Amino acid sequence: MKHIVIIGGGIAGIETASALTDAGHWVTLIEKDAQIGGKLNNWSNLFPNFTPVEKITDELKEKCRRKDFSILTNTEVNSVLRNKDKFSINTSDNQQLEADAIVVATGYELFDARRKEEYGYKIYDHVITSADLEQLFKSGEKLTVAAGKIPKRIAFVHCVGSRDEKSGNHYCSKVCCITGVKQAIELKKHLPDAEIFCFYMDLRMYGKHFEELYREAQEKYDIQFIRGRLSEASEKIDKSLLIKAEDTLSGRPLKMNVDLLVLLIGMEAGKGTAAAATSCSIGCEESGFLQTADSFLQSNISMQDGIFLAGSCTAPMTVNDTVLHARSAAQEVNNYLQKTR
Ligand code: SF4
Repeated sequence: MKHIVIIGGGIAGIETASALTDAGHWVTLIEKDAQIGGKLNNWSNLFPNFTPVEKITDELKEKCRRKDFSILTNTEVNSVLRNKDKFSINTSDNQQLEADAIVVATGYELFDARRKEEYGYKIYDHVITSADLEQLFKSGEKLTVAAGKIPKRIAFVHCVGSRDEKSGNHYCSKVCCITGVKQAIELKKHLPDAEIFCFYMDLRMYGKHFEELYREAQEKYDIQFIRGRLSEASEKIDKSLLIKAEDTLSGRPLKMNVDLLVLLIGMEAGKGTAAAATSCSIGCEESGFLQTADSFLQSNISMQDGIFLAGSCTAPMTVNDTVLHARSAAQEVNNYLQKTR
């Protein structure tokens, strides 16, 4: 029986582990956090159809219970040594694992919105991120602003930490446009009297049913989309916010008072991916995401024989894309193991 070590216990790691176990391999999943499931554990509902996240996470966790693979939580990889076709992996709790193949599935990190100081995250009380809003939805808490008031005007800002020279991330994070549309609709359902504005550069509604949701946001929920980039936000004495932007369609500067500002933060490669790249001696792209052998036909293949890649450690991805990428990673591992048999 061949042994495969998977680094990262998010959706990609679990799905790859499940597929490889089905194929008759012995799999060990290494997760740095106390629980598996990754970022999805902190999310409430998924676009484009508002599926409760538990529907996905419960199924993934059930797979982990049903299928026979080992999970090491609170564990990180210290080093990986190669000896011909075998890998020797040393973990943070000093375990030594021998593996025939490795899958890196370290996922992504959310952009730290404090780096966009001009928007006032963690400086002003009522500037939050899409991740904070999702946690609020999950907790079921009522959304209030200063003195327990219900927010009447809310603005979303797209592309925070993506497509942005200043933060060093030139790529599009792919999922935040549709996340913003989904969250704006959810807010409108909670607060039917609120006015909601989305400030965007371009709207990227590439996925199945995304465009329909965007249309519904405008026609049914009266959410207003303004093509313009926010330059700054400042806090007023009553804790409301003054935002300044340029309406890039009319070419006019625009000022607006809002009670709440939501920053749609993008995806970054993160420290876990950088650490895996170093320990496994595989390359990173300029963006920090892992380099694949070929982006068309070999997106699961790393620059090292026997080391494979799954999920958003290679590029921003939706949940659906991640599951498919994980399954194809498992297939590539199978093909490789058959050749080295
Ligand atoms: S998905 Fe939309 S909000 Fe996110 S980076 Fe791309 S264009 Fe910007």
